[in-house]
Amino acid sequence: MTSSTFTVLSPVTGQPVTEVALASVEETDAAIERADAAFPAWRDVAPGERARLLRAFAAVVDAHLEELAQLEVLNSGHTIGNARWEAGNVRDVLNYYSAAPERMFGRQIPVPGGLDFTVREPLGVIGVIVPWNFPMPIAGWGFGPALAAGNTVVLKPAELTPLTAIRLGELALEAGLPEGVFTVIPGKGSVVGERFVTHPLVRKICFTGSTGVGKQIMAGCADQVKRLTLELGGKSANIVFADADIAKAAATAPYAVFDNAGQDCCARSRILVQRSAYDEFLGRLETAVGAMKVIDPADDASEMGPLICAKQKETVLGYLDGVEAAFSGSVPDSAGDGFWVPPTVVLTEDTSTPIWREEVFGPVVAVMPFDDEADAIRLANDTEFGLSGSIFTRDVGRALRVARGVQAGNLSVNSHSSVRYWTPFGGFKQSGLGRELGPDAPNAFTEEKNVFIAQD
Ligand code: NAD
Repeated sequence: MTSSTFTVLSPVTGQPVTEVALASVEETDAAIERADAAFPAWRDVAPGERARLLRAFAAVVDAHLEELAQLEVLNSGHTIGNARWEAGNVRDVLNYYSAAPERMFGRQIPVPGGLDFTVREPLGVIGVIVPWNFPMPIAGWGFGPALAAGNTVVLKPAELTPLTAIRLGELALEAGLPEGVFTVIPGKGSVVGERFVTHPLVRKICFTGSTGVGKQIMAGCADQVKRLTLELGGKSANIVFADADIAKAAATAPYAVFDNAGQDCCARSRILVQRSAYDEFLGRLETAVGAMKVIDPADDASEMGPLICAKQKETVLGYLDGVEAAFSGSVPDSAGDGFWVPPTVVLTEDTSTPIWREEVFGPVVAVMPFDDEADAIRLANDTEFGLSGSIFTRDVGRALRVARGVQAGNLSVNSHSSVRYWTPFGGFKQSGLGRELGPDAPNAFTEEKNVFIAQD
């Protein structure tokens, strides 16, 4: 029995695209039970065979890359360039972790009187809960390493953006993954998501989303001491020192915050600029923001599309209510009923203002001057979040000091490096718990077992 359906709207036009059935608690339970039933056989698949199946899955994703990308443009309003990268990221993550089954190493630890070794054992059913801002990559960061480590996966996409996840579930079967190993269950957070948390057969929750919901899930997991990874919000700083290549810093800053219309947990939504370079930086930033191509995301040249939904647009505009923008970019003339907001730059010296403190999750950036290195680190760390950040300077010593001083999980110097699947990703403070991606990600979907064998 299906409890209800959800109408997916195009963010570009605001018009309906399709209806998606939302799973009930009973349907969720049935899917979890199928995933649990599929677990022993999947765990026991020979490592080389599991590797081959993951590579086959990657190849099928690659063969459908354009289809998946177009689907994301339709469902999420992502620029086609981004959407192609996102589908490619799923393929790359699967290929990367396809090397893991044959490398799930334990350790041999010296002990007196015998032999001690450790093994990594999969947990069972993993519940992956995905937000709407990057539906494909965030799904893949969960299911790729979880499957590689020998777990089965149930995955809940966000209500707003289920289409590519549903397609990925079909492609997994097409690639030869056995039934029940990877199941996509579209549904409400309060129904399917919560059931992942309360169902005893789900051994770990891999959640990406807002800090508020993450805290609720963490509290819910306590009941069964359920394993948990949280990737939550951010309010990252882009710190520009006067000794930096100011032209490069200003030219790249808009893309570090307005990419995906600012709906990015890593958005550098606070720009800190050393006072002596402040005017030059702002002048160049205005030129760069004005030149951003905010056009139909299906156009190959598009650099920014609309927001995901009317509610998100309203939330973002709420932050701008009564706030004077220093300058802003454009939206298409044909914006119509789509959920467009122009890239907007606000200047502030007030660290208590919501635009400086809260995750706007839209194309809004706040710029603030600072005096010296200590001041920059203090301001960057004056937040409950700690996900990412950038540092622009030509002084290598300063780059090292500031990179060590900023409390965030992912920093880049003289660049705004996006997430790389082969390096660890995650947040300090209230930006998260645990790490995804990188060489160790499969271990996070295992228990480490220690075995001692007496020699006499
Ligand atoms: P959200 O927290 O509202 O929803 C995320 C997912 O959780 C959705 O699938 C939703 O249906 C589900 N959910 C909602 N309530 C639930 C509940 N009670 N129990 C279980 N599941 C529930 O977040 P969103 O609005 O979809 O996404 C935006 C947020 O995600 C932003 O705060 C952003 O910073 C964060 N995010 C973080 C990262 C990261 O890696 N740190 C990456 C992307 C997005």
